[in-house]
Amino acid sequence: MSRVFAGIEAGGTKWVCMIASHPGDIHATTRFATTSPEETIGKAIDFIETHAQQAGELSGLGIGSFGPLDLDRNSSTYGYITSTPKSGWAGTDLLCPFQKAFNLPVGFDTDVNAAALGEHRWGAAQGLTDFIYLTVGTGIGGAAVVNQRLVHGMIHPEMGHMNIPHDWDEDPFPGLCPYHGDCLEGLATGPAIRSRWQQPGEEIPPDHAAWVLEAKYLSLGITNLIVAFSPQSIILGGGVMNQAQLFPLIRTKVQELLGGYISAPLILEDIEQYIIPPGLGAQAGVLGAVALAQQAAEKGTFP
Ligand code: ZN
Repeated sequence: MSRVFAGIEAGGTKWVCMIASHPGDIHATTRFATTSPEETIGKAIDFIETHAQQAGELSGLGIGSFGPLDLDRNSSTYGYITSTPKSGWAGTDLLCPFQKAFNLPVGFDTDVNAAALGEHRWGAAQGLTDFIYLTVGTGIGGAAVVNQRLVHGMIHPEMGHMNIPHDWDEDPFPGLCPYHGDCLEGLATGPAIRSRWQQPGEEIPPDHAAWVLEAKYLSLGITNLIVAFSPQSIILGGGVMNQAQLFPLIRTKVQELLGGYISAPLILEDIEQYIIPPGLGAQAGVLGAVALAQQAAEKGTFP
């Protein structure tokens, strides 16, 4: 019998919780809006307690969270959400309530690192040693897998806050990032699209100039990531990437920006197989949290 895990995709807008062994063996899933830390964490604990009894004994718990996070195990605030602009959540201890509720190995990482891990185990990045996972939604987050390992480094990557060229004549929108204004996240998230065009992205037609501009900003960021990391694949997830017309626009723009300099067949000939959506689709985040739980159980990692 396969071991059963609990995964939590802790997003700034919604949380998704799942009890599963792997993508082909999902016991239960739920989603709810992110409200106060107490209420939201309480709902997740209730869900896991209720469904774990039916699914059998849990072997691990995984939490993939919005951030920034403190991932330093030697820090007194390990497991905390640190400097988030999200109201009420800065300085929240995300780990301790789950440790108190469940005596289990716990995997804890950023939501996008979790999604990348899930794609590596079960999705579009199986068998790759080096790839980038970028999520474009209410924020922009990025994960780098280098030599089969997630990059953490000093804190964790913050690819959404790359500085990219901003032509103020073409786009006078100043950007929404409270720290940098017109960084990539400031210019290219769902809220930035809504603010710039005065309507939500879901209501903007696929042939609108909004998407050409969006593809340009994302392509500038992606081009920087390609030359910096030499990834074997770029996986693009998140709500904004549900606009499927963005993929061909981005592929063409990335080729144009690279200017033929990176002479790899994946860029020059097979870019449709290079810049791709997640293999796990909309469940990449929560299945990634399940993968974090599985990894923690394999290592026996108690936080
Ligand atoms: Zn920023």
